[in-house]
Amino acid sequence: MPDASANRVIVIGAGPVGLCVALRLAQQEIPVVVVEALGQNFLEQVPRAGTNHPATLELYDRIGLYRRLEPRGIVAPLFHYWDRHTNTRIAEFDHAHLRDDTKFPYVLQCERIKVVEEALALARAHPLIEVRLSTSFTSFTQGADRVTARVTNPDGGSEAIAGAYLVSAEGARSIVRKDLDIEFEGFTYSDRTLNIEVAYDFRRHGYTERNYISDPDEWSNLFHWKGPPDRWRVHFPTAPDEDEAAICDPTALQARLQRFLPTGLDFDIVGSNLYTVHQRVARKFRVGRAILAGDAAHVNSPIGAMGMNSGVHDAFNLADKLVGILRRELAEDALDRYERQRRHVALQHTQAQTIRNKKLLAEKDPAVRARNHDELRRTAEDPKLARAFLLRTSLIESLREAERIA
Ligand SMILES: Cc1cc2nc3c(=O)[nH]c(=O)nc-3n(C[C@H](O)[C@H](O)[C@H](O)COP(=O)(O)OP(=O)(O)OC[C@H]3O[C@@H](n4cnc5c(N)ncnc54)[C@H](O)[C@@H]3O)c2cc1C
Repeated sequence: MPDASANRVIVIGAGPVGLCVALRLAQQEIPVVVVEALGQNFLEQVPRAGTNHPATLELYDRIGLYRRLEPRGIVAPLFHYWDRHTNTRIAEFDHAHLRDDTKFPYVLQCERIKVVEEALALARAHPLIEVRLSTSFTSFTQGADRVTARVTNPDGGSEAIAGAYLVSAEGARSIVRKDLDIEFEGFTYSDRTLNIEVAYDFRRHGYTERNYISDPDEWSNLFHWKGPPDRWRVHFPTAPDEDEAAICDPTALQARLQRFLPTGLDFDIVGSNLYTVHQRVARKFRVGRAILAGDAAHVNSPIGAMGMNSGVHDAFNLADKLVGILRRELAEDALDRYERQRRHVALQHTQAQTIRNKKLLAEKDPAVRARNHDELRRTAEDPKLARAFLLRTSLIESLREAERIA
């Protein structure tokens, strides 16, 4: 009797990355088991990613996910840079400049949890995907042609799941990465970022759906998250030694918002949370039959909206290589090319751009600020420069560059 697990891929984590890997594999006839620690409360996770770039929308489209997400999201062709110091708009970028580069010349504001919910529904409906919620991955072993994951089932029992490859899409705390002793190189910012969710329409003050706001004292990001009814998120830096309870105190949140935009009326604050920002890339993305993807392999600041997007790009690159290998059309060293391509993108694009973005918004030197703002203005006003800029911010350039890596 043939071994049912011989071709099976074990995916740890039903986040956006794990589910995209699973769908892409199964839709090409590769059986998958997805192991996810969360269960009942799966769809009640803290707010995180929300911006889906054009290149990511193209990938969602290939697995039938885009048409499910578009009605739940906000189509946003524009984004702005603002100077809070002078309360003026520095530049407006329009994804219409990418109309010849992509079928989707806009971003879709659609939260991570909606991406997960819709991808999970597709995965559950696919006969080749077994989704196991409330099941925690704990360890694994690997041999020449096999990998075995050890999991704890919902009833607390331990079980071994065998497969041909193991994909760690477990997020930043990846057990696989730690068990393989792979260094997570980089740094952690000392200041945490505050996210305040507000029921208010900021467009009446000239803002668009995505705004990056520079200020030498308190930079911020302002995003239209969902609606109607309108929900916006405002991100602010906080001092490293500030007490969390004091930061998130409702009066302090209100005062911070009033300093940002003095409307004179209380904002309707829907929620808030504080998060630590890391800039890290795993030294290796693959050891034998165990492969890292998404936040398990790289994490970065959300300024620029690149974490989930680049993770989804990992997912498709990896899934297509695993399909080729399991069909014996590609040699196993295709996985080394996955590492070369995606590690290059993580270092040269996502890390480099997100670090630059924060520096640009937080710059204190007035002369440097003026120079940066002039350059943004010039770039936005010149169609050729604007297109080149948008190819980078939307990660299209990163995908093109990765394709050129042997
Ligand atoms: C405030 C904020 C805003 C952000 N905004 C953006 C944005 O606009 N655009 C963008 O691209 N990125 C953004 N990001 C980053 C983005 O959220 C992450 O990069 C993305 O969620 C990573 O996806 P993932 O599937 O790799 O991991 P995750 O989303 O972390 O999913 C991992 C899954 O694995 C499961 N898991 C973990 N351990 C185990 C285990 N042992 N056994 C079984 N299951 C396990 C978890 O429960 C989870 O479901 C933002 C992040 C933050 C904090």
